[in-house]
Amino acid sequence: MMNSFALLPAGVQVAFAIVFGLVIGSFLSVVVHRLPIMLERAWREEVSEAIEQPLEDDGLPPRYNLWLPRSACPHCGHVLRAWENLPVLSYLMLRGRCSACHARVSVRYPLLEIASAACAVGTLLLFGPSLTALAAFGLCAALLAMSAIDIDTHLLPDSLTLPLLWAGLIVNFGGMFTSLHNAVAGAIAGYLVLWVVHWIFKLVRGVEGMGYGDFKLLAALGAWLGWAALPQIILIAAVAGAVVGLAATWVGRMRFEEPLPFGPFLAAGGALTLFLGTPLYLALGG
Ligand SMILES: [Zn+2]
Repeated sequence: MMNSFALLPAGVQVAFAIVFGLVIGSFLSVVVHRLPIMLERAWREEVSEAIEQPLEDDGLPPRYNLWLPRSACPHCGHVLRAWENLPVLSYLMLRGRCSACHARVSVRYPLLEIASAACAVGTLLLFGPSLTALAAFGLCAALLAMSAIDIDTHLLPDSLTLPLLWAGLIVNFGGMFTSLHNAVAGAIAGYLVLWVVHWIFKLVRGVEGMGYGDFKLLAALGAWLGWAALPQIILIAAVAGAVVGLAATWVGRMRFEEPLPFGPFLAAGGALTLFLGTPLYLALGG
């Protein structure tokens, strides 16, 4: 299938990547919205079993997953018809409002779809029509979803970080982005580096600077891109995090002690390294 796709004119390939990226982006919105709710429900079920109390009603249907129930307006419950569920287009046609109750639809939906489409085109252009491009897009899509979930909930769910880590080891089994040796070393080093930083912070300042999800995300990035990519990813994440943190403090959006979710910055460092390679490592004589 990949071979016949490669025979299509370049313009058709890019058009396909745009549509594919938009559709996946639309699915990512569902993941970002529903996965934290599904996880919270699972935790509450475990707790209610442990303390032998009946589960409180959370107002959601008994079957609630990534596919059911169908997407609906969170304000009025209006179930979206097919034409109201088109990536970006529906948002533009409806001018960012629900067709039933006219409540504002978050601009994040089209932004996530556009970002996903941009990643699909970017990976196609960088790696050509290949399985490598598809895998690279998968990495980008996972990073987008995790960033949005981390911003919303300050959590990086294991159900996303751990499969991403395994996926990195699997794609590099045949050396797709780096050798398997570098991938395994990257997974180990990625986890350990942030674990050490976390404990130094905790011992010196008595605060939790980072969550365990951050260690697992950097381990996953190490598995995908190899250990040599880690210094650059951490540098990009730290600088971007510091700039955004200071800017947010400056405009008074948050207090200085308030922890900033670090996942989006690690994800940005990983995505940039995927697209740009590792000039930092090469500059250091690697
Ligand atoms: Zn509505």
